[in-house]
Amino acid sequence: MNCKIVSEFIAPYINLELSDETHAQINTHLEKCPNCKIEYQAQLGICRLLSEKLERLEAHQGLKEQIMKKTIGSNKRSLCFSEK
Ligand SMILES: [Zn+2]
Repeated sequence: MNCKIVSEFIAPYINLELSDETHAQINTHLEKCPNCKIEYQAQLGICRLLSEKLERLEAHQGLKEQIMKKTIGSNKRSLCFSEK
């Protein structure tokens, strides 16, 4: 198992798509190879960030639609002045 192969397997490794044997080999390599470990952590960070961002974006999108529905329409004016 060399760095080039490991770098190609990092994504499926994170997604637990590898066989037990390959997973263990990557695991062993990551433990002794700082370069690949950095690569792994970077990809892991991106994966987590992406899924968090996506969840937030979806929440945002729903909220935005609600606000749009509430603000667009004939009672837009009263909505603006109904605060307080
Ligand atoms: Zn390596």
